[in-house]
Amino acid sequence: MVKLLDLQAITAMHGDEYKAAVSRVIDSGWFLQGNENKRFEADYAKYIGTEHCIAVANGLDALYLLMRGYKEMGLMNDGDEIIVPANTYIATIIAITRNNLVPVLVEPTWEHLEIDVDKIESAITPKTKGVMIVHLYGRIAYNDNLGEICKKYGLKLMEDCAQSHGCVWKGVKVGALGDCAAHSFYPGKNLGAFGDAGAVTTNDAELASVIRALANYGSQKKYVFKYVGMNSRMSEPDAAVLDVKLKYLDDDNKARQKLAAYYYEHISNPLIKLPKRISDENNVYHQFPIFCERRDELQEYLKENGVQTLIHYPIPPHKQECYRGWNARSYPITEKIHREELSIPMNQVVSVEEAKEVVSALNSFR
Ligand SMILES: *Cc1c(COP(=O)(O)O)cnc(C)c1O
Repeated sequence: MVKLLDLQAITAMHGDEYKAAVSRVIDSGWFLQGNENKRFEADYAKYIGTEHCIAVANGLDALYLLMRGYKEMGLMNDGDEIIVPANTYIATIIAITRNNLVPVLVEPTWEHLEIDVDKIESAITPKTKGVMIVHLYGRIAYNDNLGEICKKYGLKLMEDCAQSHGCVWKGVKVGALGDCAAHSFYPGKNLGAFGDAGAVTTNDAELASVIRALANYGSQKKYVFKYVGMNSRMSEPDAAVLDVKLKYLDDDNKARQKLAAYYYEHISNPLIKLPKRISDENNVYHQFPIFCERRDELQEYLKENGVQTLIHYPIPPHKQECYRGWNARSYPITEKIHREELSIPMNQVVSVEEAKEVVSALNSFR
């Protein structure tokens, strides 16, 4: 059985280093807001190329805090609009609506799977305050045109980097391309903790300081509360583990890119469409999505042939019950992606043998 994601094997690659890091924290007796968080924040900010990094409890909180920060700064208000891709994980949308902001869903392109930058300008209204891009599947969602549109209309450019740690646009890492960015370190991400964890990166010193306070009950000074905040902090063991894992991220991504190259070279079934191949710099292959009109049959066939897969995602946000008011809307490209997408094994521990098995199962589907 080729597993979609073997976290046991991935963790075992550097297991002793993780154990040593966690032991160090246990022995220190200090579990929150300590040196491990400070070190990871400094190292991650350096890696991304921003001045500030704020470690938080998870990716959803990181996303929420970006806009909550702008609201506390008076730059966004209830009812303002945020442009966002219609095809994203639900967390991106929840972060917007939980801030009483209005998500304006924009279709992706079928070719690139990321937000259609040509459709952004016509979605802008006087209420638009920001654009939230999502580098979905590890593919770059940014281009220079998008940056120019945001500047021209004075919109905050926010990035959801939950699936794209280490992805680069013209020498700049995602997470440093816009005004601020949210990162998730959910265990299955390219950079994953041993539980929930997340971070915000930005060069905006004021936003950084507001978000740091908001994530700590709204407090900048002990027992003095400026905002009605929340408790969203990263544990010290997680920070220690992530700091170890960060050293290996670029190598892990290279292994993913190598596997992707193998897939592009060898998957040749005309019933299966592969996503447009873009340069390795622009894709860290969080997932390797393939598309098939008979997706459910293909998934069953792969299972019978020992290949685990997963659908990212079966139901788009606008068809979810939690957003029932949008259910009648139609976003045909988004819906096609959700109808045909299947993610095949993609990570740093898939062996050459396993990759061959995946390819041969895919190519024998009729
Ligand atoms: C995983 C993910 C999130 C949420 O991150 P959590 O740490 O699980 O809260 C947000 N957006 C996208 C695109 C994701 O893949």
